[in-house]
Amino acid sequence: MVEGASGGTQQVASHPVARTWLMPTKSHSREKRFRFIVDAHEDIADNAVLGRDFKLSALEKRKLETPPDSRMGIATVGLPELIQANVRIVFATLWAAPCNMPEPKIKPCYETPQQAYDLARKQLEYYNDLAKDPRIIIIRSKSDIDLVLDPDSPRLGAVLLMEGADPIVTPKQTQEWFEAGVRIVGPAWHATHYAGGTRAPGPLTELGRELMKEMERTGLILDMSHMAEASFFEALDLFHGPVIASHSNCRSIVPTDRQLSDEMISALVAREGVIGAVLFNKFLQPDWRETGAIKSKVTLSDVMKHIHHMCDLAGDRLHVGIGSDFDGGFGAESIPAELDTAADLQKVGEALGDAGFSQIDIDNILGGNWVRLLRRALP
Ligand SMILES: [Zn+2]
Repeated sequence: MVEGASGGTQQVASHPVARTWLMPTKSHSREKRFRFIVDAHEDIADNAVLGRDFKLSALEKRKLETPPDSRMGIATVGLPELIQANVRIVFATLWAAPCNMPEPKIKPCYETPQQAYDLARKQLEYYNDLAKDPRIIIIRSKSDIDLVLDPDSPRLGAVLLMEGADPIVTPKQTQEWFEAGVRIVGPAWHATHYAGGTRAPGPLTELGRELMKEMERTGLILDMSHMAEASFFEALDLFHGPVIASHSNCRSIVPTDRQLSDEMISALVAREGVIGAVLFNKFLQPDWRETGAIKSKVTLSDVMKHIHHMCDLAGDRLHVGIGSDFDGGFGAESIPAELDTAADLQKVGEALGDAGFSQIDIDNILGGNWVRLLRRALP
């Protein structure tokens, strides 16, 4: 999101959808195709709460939304587009908005952690419903990764990511969310009862320090996107498990607290973390504004600047991926010129090739780096 039913491993039998899944690849044979894509940030359930059916294509959603919804923008994501782009894994968020925001309130919103919990449980139910479709599974363990990457019967896997930890009412409740399928928790969005966040600086709270211990004990991945600087470095000290920044760009290019400073990027790399580059124009170019914005002013070459900078700091190409944040409060009007819907995500691979990345680097950045982290971090 922009700013600034528990059960065991799902058994999904081989299914005839496998053949149809691969058809778009064949019909687009003129284009260069890359192995597979992992998108580390999509607010699928939040969009569903606002009336968007994930299984409808973005183009079908656009027909239903005229004029486009001002909160959501022009739709970019639907299951058909993800299939077309060969996206095999998304980090799908549970995200609820706090009511105490300085700008006009987002609805629905929460006043208390209990209300946040209720909103997030509804979103969890949405994902559990989606997973009744044989093309979709919720990834809970390493073995589920093999299921979704199987070339003979590919599926879309959703790794559930809680963005802003207010729905965890008390640190002890972390286990309950893990059992319900959540595998990644970002303590902050704006400030939460655990951590300072975007445009809300501050360290971890006392409860936040406890949350770090509970998350490590439970085996969750820590998502450091949105964490205020003080919280970020405190959390790195207290939490010894796997760390990521699911959707963050470089502060040295776009100087706001929403992006990562060079020091933060280097700290994530030192912990073998992976950072998802965000495909939101406002986070790609410092002077781009949503009001009166011109889409064509930002291109994939701007995305390459962020990816290059992160790779330069890392000294390799193993710590960057994609975290598009598509449909995270903005739409097609606010993403780079070459992209219209999520079906265009393969074009990021072409742009990486044009920017001098090797085939192996491109496969890693489009998906391999995230998969390696998940294989290390998941139970
Ligand atoms: Zn976000």
